[in-house]
Amino acid sequence: MGVKKLIDQLNKEEALSYDNWLVLLSSYTPHDISYAQSLAQQIVRSVYGRDIYVRGLIEYTNYCKNDCYYCGIRRSNHKAERYRLTREELLSCCRQGYALGFRTFVMQGGEDGFYTDDWLEETIHEIKRKYPDCALTLSMGERSYDSYKRFYQAGADRYLLRHETAEQHHYEKLHPKELSFSHRKDCLYALKEIGYQVGCGFMVDSPFQTVETLAEDMLFIHDLKPHMIGIGPFIPHKDTPFHDRPQGSLEKTLFFISLLRIMEKHALIPATTALGTIHSKGRELGILAGANVLMPNLSPVFVRKKYALYDNKICTGEEAAECKDCLAKRIESIGYKIVCERGDYKP
Ligand code: SAH
Repeated sequence: MGVKKLIDQLNKEEALSYDNWLVLLSSYTPHDISYAQSLAQQIVRSVYGRDIYVRGLIEYTNYCKNDCYYCGIRRSNHKAERYRLTREELLSCCRQGYALGFRTFVMQGGEDGFYTDDWLEETIHEIKRKYPDCALTLSMGERSYDSYKRFYQAGADRYLLRHETAEQHHYEKLHPKELSFSHRKDCLYALKEIGYQVGCGFMVDSPFQTVETLAEDMLFIHDLKPHMIGIGPFIPHKDTPFHDRPQGSLEKTLFFISLLRIMEKHALIPATTALGTIHSKGRELGILAGANVLMPNLSPVFVRKKYALYDNKICTGEEAAECKDCLAKRIESIGYKIVCERGDYKP
């Protein structure tokens, strides 16, 4: 079967077999990329219109106990200048974000034991008390079922935890042995069971990725049925074991955004900062490929350069207000508009 037929089948059945994914992923042409893009655009417009949701990203710590080979804030990177935000600093990011129109805040950080369950619970409570009309998303890695449950009960609404790769051997090539795909997967299913809107995702062209591992990613995503799916190109960081690996492809990332939109029609899919980093119009192209979310940086400017997961990250110098205005203009230029809403998953 040709790739176009497989894309049609994906559109109709919202799934493909492993073998069909292999065929699609090993034989697509630029023509198929445009075909997927036009379908993805129709789909996203029929579900979400031309609305683009924004999430204020607060990178609250770059301390991390993990040692992921791709990540610039891995524990073994002794060149990383570490920081932690205080509760007051975090709340002040929310205050500023709220004034700018953000109705979702994302707390993202390394896995930092300094922030205990008690500390986080109280902080979540406080944010939700001050901003009851906002959604709060957490992205702080793997924790216990009980911690996830406490944070949910304290008011957190969503959780982002990229699965990184759904193929166990590939997972082992990206992470040290204390981390496993099976545990990552358990966390994602636990988060879903507790009631969070859940996000998974992966890097496009991460080292050792193949069409086989990508086919596993697509099957895993289909099985998990996440509310959010975050993908972006792998970008090397100079002080990591993968410093000399090539950066991910723009075209391939855009193609995957379209395929994910065709498979998971209602998903919230961001045009990520990594995509904006490898191409000056990367985020606009991501939206035209089927994404409907942007995650501008709300972190205090004095920490932004320090939250360096990869090299040359964009928007590390601007104030949040400048970022928001710049994004609004970019989005209008392609015929979409940023809306000031929580932007929940539409079933
Ligand atoms: N500690 C949290 C947050 C991780 S940072 C967690 O474990 O979920 C968010 C995402 O950035 C990661 O899930 C990873 O997919 C991505 N990332 C890390 N290093 C990267 C790199 N070098 N290039 C592109 N994306 C990267």
